[in-house]
Amino acid sequence: MKSDLSSIFQVILSEGHIFSEHAGFSGKKLRGVGPIQYAVHWLYGVFEPVILRIVDYVLSIRFLTKTVMGRKILYVIASISWFFPHGVVVTTAAAERMVDFVERTEGPKGARIAVGPCVCQMALNRWQEPSKKDMVLLYGADIYYHLNMGYELISAEKAKGLLREFDAAGLVHAVEFCLRSGKWIFVICNCDDKICAPTRIFLHTGKMLFPGPEIVNHDRKLCIGREKCGKCLERCIIGVNFVGDDGKVAVDYDKCMGCGLCVNTCPGKARTMVKRENYRHGHQVPADLLLGKTETVSL
Ligand code: SF4
Ligand code: SF4
Repeated sequence: MKSDLSSIFQVILSEGHIFSEHAGFSGKKLRGVGPIQYAVHWLYGVFEPVILRIVDYVLSIRFLTKTVMGRKILYVIASISWFFPHGVVVTTAAAERMVDFVERTEGPKGARIAVGPCVCQMALNRWQEPSKKDMVLLYGADIYYHLNMGYELISAEKAKGLLREFDAAGLVHAVEFCLRSGKWIFVICNCDDKICAPTRIFLHTGKMLFPGPEIVNHDRKLCIGREKCGKCLERCIIGVNFVGDDGKVAVDYDKCMGCGLCVNTCPGKARTMVKRENYRHGHQVPADLLLGKTETVSL
């Protein structure tokens, strides 16, 4: 183990890109990312597949997911894992604005966006298309590109096209950051509920994902009901929608994460996204960044 670690540090020291300047988020601005943050995150990237395999093993223990006591233990495990990536759920339009913000970046290396294979799918060797959906940003793009795991640098236009494809495939976008700090934002994950480890932890514990700055607004009068439609029931992987006595769908607003997946596919036009009044994670991912009130950014 000791020699493993020393060889990893040798690789870190030999990787010149660690010491070049990198850009990261900081509220509605950008900031330089130094070699220590870069190296720590690089190490996380190296060990991420192992961590995800451990998480998957934990989630396969029926006692932990199927019993009240087990769920409490799982909740505690998720709570003390605060330093691992957590995410704010966002709509496709908000994710596109995040990409636009990155595109307007000036400073070290300018805009950096890369896409690569979903790390959960790769770690667990469980594949489901679209699988090339890990969209890393700024210093995150530099790290994962250099980890040689199949990432490619892409333009903002291509990134936005991919985000729309992920929406059509029913994937939830989440802006993810480590250490529960917006200074460690590194990726837009595009998650499902079968393979994605953070989403599965969230569905069992309510941890790891946070509601975004938007929430669904549902006009029940316009709903044509489950018998004729029911699309929102399928699209919402969180399980926010339920069928009322009249056969129409209703929404448990307390549970809505604000992904927007149920809006575009609603044939009754019963749904829109509106600003969430009590968005609590603006100190990590500012609402203005996601809802569109930012200028050209530079370091
Ligand atoms: S998708 Fe729209 S019309 Fe269809 S059941 Fe849901 S709310 Fe009603
Ligand atoms: S109700 Fe709609 S916006 Fe809310 S979490 Fe479900 S799919 Fe996403």
